Amino acid sequence: MEFDSLVVQGIPAVENEKGSVVPPIHLATTYVQESLSSFQEFGYGRGENPTRFNLEALVSQLEGVKHGFAFSSGMAATTTVFNLFKQGDKVLLNCDLYGGTYRYADNLFTQQGIDFELVDNVNDLTDTDLTPNVKAIFIETPSNPLLRVIDIQKLSDLAHKHDCLVIVDNTFMTPYLQRSFELGADIVVYSATKYLSGHSDIIAGLVTVDDDDLAAEIKMLQSTLGNILSPTDSYHLIQGIKTLTVRMDKQEENTKKIIQFLEKHPSIANVYYPGSSSDVEAKIQKKQASGIGAVFSIELVPEASPEKFVDALNIINLAVSLGGVESLICHPASMTHDYYSPELRQKIGISEGLLRLAIGIENPDDLIKDLEQALDKAV
Ligand SMILES: *Cc1c(COP(=O)(O)O)cnc(C)c1O
Repeated sequence: MEFDSLVVQGIPAVENEKGSVVPPIHLATTYVQESLSSFQEFGYGRGENPTRFNLEALVSQLEGVKHGFAFSSGMAATTTVFNLFKQGDKVLLNCDLYGGTYRYADNLFTQQGIDFELVDNVNDLTDTDLTPNVKAIFIETPSNPLLRVIDIQKLSDLAHKHDCLVIVDNTFMTPYLQRSFELGADIVVYSATKYLSGHSDIIAGLVTVDDDDLAAEIKMLQSTLGNILSPTDSYHLIQGIKTLTVRMDKQEENTKKIIQFLEKHPSIANVYYPGSSSDVEAKIQKKQASGIGAVFSIELVPEASPEKFVDALNIINLAVSLGGVESLICHPASMTHDYYSPELRQKIGISEGLLRLAIGIENPDDLIKDLEQALDKAV
């Protein structure tokens, strides 16, 4: 089946003997065992739950790999993967990435004696950067909030020569637009809170992996750390995923129209979207993803006030997060990347005036009109 069929039809009928069109929600925390010697598939709900298993099977199919795991948040997914590493290991990360991921590295890697480094331009890594203690490279591409593009295939070829894992946080692109495993990634994580659920009403995370040994370790960590996704949220995520492709198509179409409008507007100094920073990155994005998604960032000209602009918006709400059907705007320096020190933000290019937009499924002309009147009031 093609991807847009799989999102709707890919749910296996685990424990669905009545043939209901949508899968049932299994709430039981424990399952009757027939005898002392006969163990069955479902024992205790933290380890096994039919509704969560449905979601996990669906997600592994969407990604085209053998294993999927569902967690209570995107951070739970990422930090579970980070638990694969031990004292003495080193992890490289791209420099502008989700604020919580950097906060974890800065606090917990440091406490655990795991070395880490924020890499300025991951595309420029060479053999000499991958010392034997570098066990993984964790990337977000496009990056957050500057939408820089990293060549997953090139990075994977390099990393695999050195027994180093490539972990991709594919939250912005989803498996619909970017097939990370086909490009060589070893582990792919998601904040399913965003595009996969799509309606700003559940917090959820996913890990997908093809390798059986890695999957066994993740499974052990998931049931030991206990950071599983609940049965009801698993159900809601299955429902959200069904409309992923229609939402994404519309959100991206809206985004392209809005970027076109903003790039021509005299009050806009910069628009950052995947591929905007160089021809090289534009080529990589075109090669490795089938779109640019629906997140981009802007800077106003010095005469315009970002505060007045945001205050004047009527439809586009000021809030963190992205990937929902409603359009949002946020101020990375104070809202999503406030854990980064001002010096680090400046070094990376997250300016005080940078604003990040996540476009929803509203009528694009309404969104453009909203932006236009707010830009007028900002000067
Ligand atoms: C939101 C987000 C996360 C964290 O996910 P939660 O579901 O909020 O825990 C991680 N990575 C990216 C790219 C995100 O946007």
